[in-house]
Amino acid sequence: MSETVYYTPKTVEGARQHLATEEFVKVVAGGQTLMLLVRQGFVDADALVDVSGVSALSGIDVADGTATIGATTTYRELSEHDLGGQLAMLGEASTVVGDRQVRTMGTVGGALGHADPAFDLLPTLCCLDAAVELGSTEGTRTVPIEQYLVGHMRTDRDPDELIERVRFDVDPRMGTAYEKHSRVEDGWATVGVAAAVTTEAGRFEDVRVGLTAVADTAVRSPAVEDALVGQPVSEDAIEAASEAVVEDIDPLDDLSGSAAYKRSLAPALVERAIGTALERTGGER
Ligand SMILES: Cc1cc2nc3c(=O)[nH]c(=O)nc-3n(C[C@H](O)[C@H](O)[C@H](O)COP(=O)(O)OP(=O)(O)OC[C@H]3O[C@@H](n4cnc5c(N)ncnc54)[C@H](O)[C@@H]3O)c2cc1C
Repeated sequence: MSETVYYTPKTVEGARQHLATEEFVKVVAGGQTLMLLVRQGFVDADALVDVSGVSALSGIDVADGTATIGATTTYRELSEHDLGGQLAMLGEASTVVGDRQVRTMGTVGGALGHADPAFDLLPTLCCLDAAVELGSTEGTRTVPIEQYLVGHMRTDRDPDELIERVRFDVDPRMGTAYEKHSRVEDGWATVGVAAAVTTEAGRFEDVRVGLTAVADTAVRSPAVEDALVGQPVSEDAIEAASEAVVEDIDPLDDLSGSAAYKRSLAPALVERAIGTALERTGGER
């Protein structure tokens, strides 16, 4: 049995080079998911490329209406960064991921790399219309997150591509929130809902709703979004629109709850997430 080679590049170019030259190669960031899979024999790689020491891949930058989050940014860094009401959901989603170890070590790139349909961060990135920047020795390409998430733990990333960062626009008028229900504290989501809202002259101008643990990947809810855009801001409008979420979800029974329970829970969490996001816009209800 051959030994797995463990690379620790310090530059993006170095990491890209290893991914281009090694055949059965995996990136490792915080190792919270990958190393479990390696230990259990589900992943067998000739080479591991540890990107945790590539400083150019870490950090959060919000300037001139654009936010950039590096792939090795951890959940803990996201939750401790002062993101303001516009991006509050990123901190909220990061705070409820797993336990302290997972939040300290786990990264944005790791969430995007494994793309589990119950991950908390992915619906927030869907809500923000984030673009995923992928790099290889061939160059860089940017993929909208809804195209990046192809299906159950499947993404548009090629094996020789490094997830380098995500980018999205930040509207200073936007309010956001993340609501998660799980069976136990520190548990996986039964349902998780991210919402981003802007209002103009007492009407909903832009509404985005993203959900986790209710389909084979994180999804948006156009039914809820379309039902609210242009409507006068009111609790009744939010409540009525939230019911439409069932049109956009297709949950399966899992260890966190039955499909029927998820369906009955989703509208209430959508209503709560939109309501909190709305409060953070300073908009009236
Ligand atoms: C006990 C436990 C509880 C958890 N609970 C939750 C929870 O409640 N909610 C939740 O959302 N998640 C939960 N998680 C999962 C957690 O979110 C992931 O383990 C974490 O995001 C993975 O990040 P990482 O940096 O450790 O990735 P790694 O484990 O290092 O990598 C994960 C995958 O992504 C790939 N990858 C990583 N970085 C890159 C990159 N830059 N470019 C290309 N590919 C890359 C790897 O090759 C691998 O396939 C839990 C995990 C554990 C172990």
